[in-house]
Parts: sequence; C-alpha cells; structure tokens
Amino acid sequence: MPENTLRVDFNRPAPVGSELEYVTQAIQGGHLSGDGPFTKKCHAILEQGLGVKKVLLTTSCTHALEMMAILLHIQPGDEVIIPDFTFVSTVNAFVLRGATPVFVDVRPDTLNLDESKLEALITPKTKAIVPVHYAGVGCEMDTILEIANRHGVAVVEDNAHGLFGKYKGKFLGTFGALASQSFHETKNFSSGEGGALLINTEDYLERAEIIREKGTNRSRFFRGQVDKYTWVDFGSSYLPSDILAAYLYGQLEQRERIQSHRKSLWQTYDMALKDWAQKNGVQLPTIPEHTEQAYHMYYLLLPTLDLRQKFIMYLRERGIYSVFHYLPLHLSDMGQAYGGKPGDCPVTERVSDQLVRLPFHNVLTSADQEMVIEAILEFPFK
Ligand SMILES: *Cc1c(COP(=O)(O)O)cnc(C)c1O
Repeated sequence: MPENTLRVDFNRPAPVGSELEYVTQAIQGGHLSGDGPFTKKCHAILEQGLGVKKVLLTTSCTHALEMMAILLHIQPGDEVIIPDFTFVSTVNAFVLRGATPVFVDVRPDTLNLDESKLEALITPKTKAIVPVHYAGVGCEMDTILEIANRHGVAVVEDNAHGLFGKYKGKFLGTFGALASQSFHETKNFSSGEGGALLINTEDYLERAEIIREKGTNRSRFFRGQVDKYTWVDFGSSYLPSDILAAYLYGQLEQRERIQSHRKSLWQTYDMALKDWAQKNGVQLPTIPEHTEQAYHMYYLLLPTLDLRQKFIMYLRERGIYSVFHYLPLHLSDMGQAYGGKPGDCPVTERVSDQLVRLPFHNVLTSADQEMVIEAILEFPFK
C-alpha cells in the first residue's frame, strides 16, 4: 500500500530543543550510568520547579510506583484503593507486593477518582489510596486527604499525566507522601522511557535511595557519609542512564514552550468543538475552576460505543489517528480474578466505551490540527 501522505499522528515524540546536543555531551563526558551530571540537572529543575523536597529519576513511572509500594511496606493482604480508570501500572506495582486492589469508580465530569465513593471502601486493611490526575486535571485532593488522614491511610499520587498542573494553586505531585511521574514517549515530557519519584515526606528519602540502588547504601557512599557501601535493604535497579537524562533535560528546559504549545492546541480544540459537541451530545473535558490542568490530552466522550468506533474509523480513513483509552481494570482478566464484575464501576464502564483521544503532541502544527477539526465537524452522526 502506498504511504498515505495525508497523515496526522496521535502522538509524535520529537526533540524540541537541545536534546541531541546534550545526549552527545553525556556520551562524550563518559558518565553513561545513572546519577550523572544530567540526572542531577533534571533533579534540580524538578525540585526547584515544583518545590519538592527530593526528586529521583527512575527508569519509568511503573518503577517509581513499585518503589512507592516498597517504601509503604505493602504486604500480602493489604488493600490499596485505586481508580478503576487508569493504566495497569498503577495497580500492578502494589499487586506485585501482594496487595489486594480495591477499585473506586471515577467522577463522570473529570474522570478522576470519585472522592464521594472513597470512604465506603476503606477497611482496617487499607494501606494506601492512589489518586491519578486523569489528563493532568487535579483530583479533589482536599477531600481525599481529609478522608485518608482521618483513617490513617497513606496517599500517594500517580501523576503520570499531571506534571506542572495545579490543584488550588499547588503543584500536582506535591500532595501525597510520594508521587510518580512518567517520561514515556506519550507524555508531555519524554526520554522515550523514564520516570521520577517525588518525595514529599523526608522520612522516605534515605530508604528510597537505597531501594533505587539495588538495596545498597551506594548514594550515601558517594556523598562520603559512609566509607564503604553494602547491602542494607531490598531493592532493585531503578536509575536511568545519564544518556536518557540528557535527552529529558533538553525537554524539561523547554517546559514553558512545550506547555504553552499544548495549552494553545487544547484551547483551539475546545473552542472549535464546543457548539458541535453540544448539538450532538458529545461531552468535552471538564476543568474545575480551582484546578490548572497540565494539558496532557484532549478527549471527547461520544454518545455511544458504536459511534465512538465509527468516529475512530472515520478519522482513520482521512489519515487522522485518534485512539481510545483505558479499559475498566475491574473487568480485565486480573481484575475479575480479584472479584471484579460488570456493574461494579458503572461510570468507568460507560466512559471507557465512549472516550476518544484526539491527536495531541508537542510538534502538532496548526494546519494539521485544523484538518482534524474540519474532519470532526463533518462527522456524520446519523
Ligand atoms: C503512562 C502511565 C503510567 C506508566 O508510565 P511508564 O513511564 O510507561 O511506566 C502509569 N500511570 C499512568 C496513569 C500513565 O498514564
């Protein structure tokens, strides 16, 4: 088949600044393993930018979540409350340590964990609540933290979508004791694969460094705090190569440009589709006034699964790639093995069928976006 020249990708990872130059510098500098000069620059930019006590780059957000589960001493039999509408890593990290996942349904407006359903799910076995700021829009953190504190349950955030977003003026990822970031190629800032653990509670700092360094006190050794390093706890290898950190630094350095481009794309979709959506029963994203979103994605909720599938096919025939998103975790094979059944999380079951994500990335041009909008406005609903 001939290459379709008219093609708008859903996502396209691309360098936007000095990424390639920094990768070359990292290689020429000769420090290719973890915690080199570029890793330190990324730590500094994130710690200063967010006002976080300590940031540790990790090999992925999945691995940052695994570190959280180890840091929280999650044991077999513990329960962890997780939104039903999220990526599998949010739950896997805790299940790996033997936790039983408890899925909470999401709000029909923001698609975030429904805080009104949270308290009923807490039991004496509950160890943690893991809010996910879907699409980079803040969860209702005041209510979630109030409930968690009252029950003595930890809150740790999966902030894969939410870097630089805010809830009531405070950065997402700074509410929980710990938070994770993703630098996977589908996220706002990328190193291909990558992530970070944000540490907001000092108590976790020393052990986090140990877990990330194969269960050794190697970080303390390099700071001259101990005269040899040894095996002190369990751990794994969760630190990325400095080559990847170099690429990521190039992206983070351009954070204002990246975020303002994404903001402009988001607002263009929103303005262009408002009347069309209202006329055709399509739901657009809800951004509560007390939140500043991270502009991670633009999604639509079509009236039915059938229309959603037709919509994706219709755009694809025009060379435009749109995609659906998470399937309800409680209905996956694993979720059913933990007792999930249809009807448990009705909002997730519905929105999972209706949701479609539009092309949205750092090098999407206005011309391409215009083409996407024109095609959408001509979609035959009947
Ligand atoms: C992307 C994503 C992850 C996983 O990130 P990786 O860096 O690929 O491990 C976890 N949670 C959510 C909500 C995500 O969107």
